[in-house]
Amino acid sequence: MLNHAAHAYYVLDAPVMEDPVYDRLYRELVELETADPGLISPDSPTRRVGGAPADGFTSVAHRIPLLSLDNAFSHAELDDWYGRLLKVLDREPAPGEPLPALPMVGELKIDGSALALSYEDGLLVRAATRGDGERGEEITSNVRTIQSVPLRLHLERPPAWVEVRGEAFIPEAAFAAINAERSERGEAPFANPRNACAGTLRQLDPKVVASRRLSFFAYTLHLPDDWQAGPQDPPAPRSQWQALGWLKAAGFHVNPHCALCPDLAAVEAFCDRWEEERRSLAYATDGVVVKLDDLRLQADAGFTQKAPRWAIALKYAAEEAPSRLLRLTCQVGRTGVVTPVAEFEPVPLAGTTVSRATLHNADRLAELDLCAGDTVVVRKAGEIIPEVVRVLRELRPAGARRLELPPTCPECGSPLVREEGEAATRCVNNGCPAILRRSLLHWVSKGALDVDGLGIKLIEQLVDRGLVASIADLYRLDAALLASLERMGETSARKLVAALSASKGQPWHRQLYGLGIHHVGEVNAKALARTFPSAAELAAAAAEAPERLLAVFGIGAEIAQSLQQWFATPANQRLLEQLRQLGFSLAAGTDPGEGLAEEAAAGPAPLTGLTFVLTGTLPSLSRSQAQALIEAAGGKVSGSVSRRTSYVVAGAEAGSKLTKAQTLGVSVLDEAGLRTLLESGSG
Ligand code: NAD
Repeated sequence: MLNHAAHAYYVLDAPVMEDPVYDRLYRELVELETADPGLISPDSPTRRVGGAPADGFTSVAHRIPLLSLDNAFSHAELDDWYGRLLKVLDREPAPGEPLPALPMVGELKIDGSALALSYEDGLLVRAATRGDGERGEEITSNVRTIQSVPLRLHLERPPAWVEVRGEAFIPEAAFAAINAERSERGEAPFANPRNACAGTLRQLDPKVVASRRLSFFAYTLHLPDDWQAGPQDPPAPRSQWQALGWLKAAGFHVNPHCALCPDLAAVEAFCDRWEEERRSLAYATDGVVVKLDDLRLQADAGFTQKAPRWAIALKYAAEEAPSRLLRLTCQVGRTGVVTPVAEFEPVPLAGTTVSRATLHNADRLAELDLCAGDTVVVRKAGEIIPEVVRVLRELRPAGARRLELPPTCPECGSPLVREEGEAATRCVNNGCPAILRRSLLHWVSKGALDVDGLGIKLIEQLVDRGLVASIADLYRLDAALLASLERMGETSARKLVAALSASKGQPWHRQLYGLGIHHVGEVNAKALARTFPSAAELAAAAAEAPERLLAVFGIGAEIAQSLQQWFATPANQRLLEQLRQLGFSLAAGTDPGEGLAEEAAAGPAPLTGLTFVLTGTLPSLSRSQAQALIEAAGGKVSGSVSRRTSYVVAGAEAGSKLTKAQTLGVSVLDEAGLRTLLESGSG
């Protein structure tokens, strides 16, 4: 399977899986082969660099082989590499001694295609792709169209030959434009800038290449040993750092974001800094390359079969990874919605370990075509919410059973219902303990009544023992009864009773949010509480004048209907009455600034740090309403899609922004998805 993926990637420029997924499967293969070398097959992808040269171009031998790089995926692996390097160089410290510091150069790992440029007497005579490392494809006329590749070196006395290696790449803006054009012509878009670049370099018509505005950063230099520099020429370098200076002086574009680091700590600081800052660059990078600075020491360290020992690529934490599905479970929410959840083997993803992801609803489950034992690709969308992107069908065990939602509620056993035209499947049993537990948990949560000391474990005990059957029952608990429960002492029981009693003074908008009415998240609760200063007024509007609900900013038909249904339900009316009797005002206080100071002090809003782009017509929100909701929750709205966009919110007749989002792999939400995010972030 990896050979098939490598062929699709290197030769066809059309990858069949995401890079981090390939990297992880490749890793597993390396681990298997290391543990049992008998398993190594002669055509194992671990045995070779890149792919074979493609047909249609002349294959040429490289004067000096073009190798790949070994990868590290964490600081610990970087430290291991450094340890191995010291060993090869015979510089290991004596026990108890500090690690000797060797200067290293940190460079950004540009996500493009490696090129080998050959100059003779200062003139570009040949350009080739990396190919299999020994032989590549000759693509000189295409490379001549790249403006940042000098056709003649800026040297007074050029050497008889010079070999320069570097990375050709497509800036992100040009990448988006190429894919937009391809979609218009009905061609499949390139998966990423790297494939677009490799595909472009292999175009048979140099005019097409010229139109695609490739760029080039040089990073490696080979010179004849006997070269004598002219008086104005930079001297032959003795270090990688000097080589970069030499390349710059000779007319190459050298990436400015590199650093000469005196020791490993400085290298790690460089890597950490660029993990975030790289997102502001106009081209894609997928890590940092660390190279031993001293060229003599590089020669001493030498090469393995595939890569130099004196360099390593530190790849940034993947946002996507494969994992094996363990089971499909169902979660029953406070509104009875049953959400399928995929539980899989824990995988590290963008800085945390994830082991479960919601699959939203039955449609998504069917679309994924999930079977028991499948290997799934997991991604952290917008770097916060894990999601299952797809299934790797090639790895599906034979005869695997298809997974579906169960016909009955996993909590109370009553039949699940899916209304026509609705995406959600629900448990409609009002007495379902799962729904009750979730509603109680929501009521005491931070954004709602904020009651300390009442977690899910305690709620489970209260519900399972029949001590609490509604929100109101929480306020009837006494300390003696609570103290008799598992893991509760007298002090914590007393504190909890006091916290519950104090929560009666929480502002009206928090009480409203705490009721857990479908679609009424924190933002909507605040908007409603501003217009309807009491439960009585809101109930009256819901019953008699629903148009007054619709006049509230951010409230659309769906929310209005949900409010109407909630207030019309007798059990909910009884709950409000009981809360009133227990001492809740269910109304705004006399202070008009109520809750505002608290809002300001509440810390970052749920969408802080996220950028949204709106496109098309949303079913119930106008563009400006959606923008206001996002901004009120701390998010930003931008006019154009880039890799830095967290989400594109798309409605009917969405245009090129949607296409661009798909091309760049930006997550796309519909209005319902946006609302879920607004609420999940705040819940
Ligand atoms: P690599 O990309 O991990 O690293 C080596 C390359 O880094 C060099 O050849 C060079 O082109 C590049 N590079 C960028 N900046 C550099 C710098 N400053 N100094 C030195 N080199 C620099 O290794 P690779 O062998 O080119 O390819 C392996 C990659 O290809 C993996 O990341 C893998 O994800 C991807 N791949 C993906 C699939 C797939 O199906 N998606 C299949 C095969 C390979």
